[in-house]
Amino acid sequence: MANYYNEKTILYLNGTFVKASEAKMDMYSQSFHYGYSVFEGIRSYKTVQGETKIFKAEAHFERLKASAQALNLPYAYATDELIAATYEVLKRNHFQDAYIRPVVYAPANMSFGLNSQSFIVIEAWEMAPFLGDALLRIMTSSFQRPNPKGFKIHAKAAGHYVNSILASQEAKSLGYDEALLLDMNDKVAEAPGANVFFEKEGTLFTPTTGNILPGITRATVLELCNELNIPVREKIFSKEEMYGADAAFFCGTAAEVIGLASLDDKPFTMAWENTVSKLIQDTYKKLIVENKQELVNEISGVE
Ligand code: PMP
Repeated sequence: MANYYNEKTILYLNGTFVKASEAKMDMYSQSFHYGYSVFEGIRSYKTVQGETKIFKAEAHFERLKASAQALNLPYAYATDELIAATYEVLKRNHFQDAYIRPVVYAPANMSFGLNSQSFIVIEAWEMAPFLGDALLRIMTSSFQRPNPKGFKIHAKAAGHYVNSILASQEAKSLGYDEALLLDMNDKVAEAPGANVFFEKEGTLFTPTTGNILPGITRATVLELCNELNIPVREKIFSKEEMYGADAAFFCGTAAEVIGLASLDDKPFTMAWENTVSKLIQDTYKKLIVENKQELVNEISGVE
């Protein structure tokens, strides 16, 4: 288990900076009892210039706001203030490469009714960029993603993650690295905490939005494809269409871009080094530490 905090760790709680070990949360919170909160997963990186940069900070805090609104949680926070507070958390903890976890949660309320206020915490812990090239062996989960007619599936709501936990634990208990979940129509949706792409004859495919969390990394990959002239299509597809594809990868803030070895023991067939998926992985790795768009243009000019 990662070491999330120690006696010295500072977090941001409702406008103040406090020690993580002294921060308190209401045990009667509607969020604690019913999984009724929203959150973000963000990364900061030490750039090549040596500065600390939060990657896509605005997009993440705007999604936090949209998630809160989707769940009817009051949201009285300004994105620029939260970004400034996050940089302050990083500074006070002396973090550069970190994972940042804001959570918006409800007050004491055992009913299912609306709240007149909400609270916010921003936690961070050190997390090195993903360096490994190891490819994951994944399996189709016996759990489907939550039905969008039952949940606001585009929101990053805590309660949805019971589904992610069940799927991931099942895959690991059966000897796989991770799960791939289908949607309620048995079409490919996403991983427990990442989006998915596959590659065939130089074209990338990813599920359409609607039944998935529209990932910020997924959007970045779509932008990179555009910059690098890699054909990419958002479409609805079955797991059978993915079987034996040239390559595939998961992408998300924590996972970054990580290649897949096989789905349900059916290997992806091209050598990872020769795929456009690998080019996307490399370009993403450079982008996060440069944190500037010019780099993408630079790379597209290089063979
Ligand atoms: N799908 C799910 C279910 C996730 O939890 C995540 C991680 N937030 C993603 C996709 C990827 O989203 P992002 O690229 O914004 O981190």
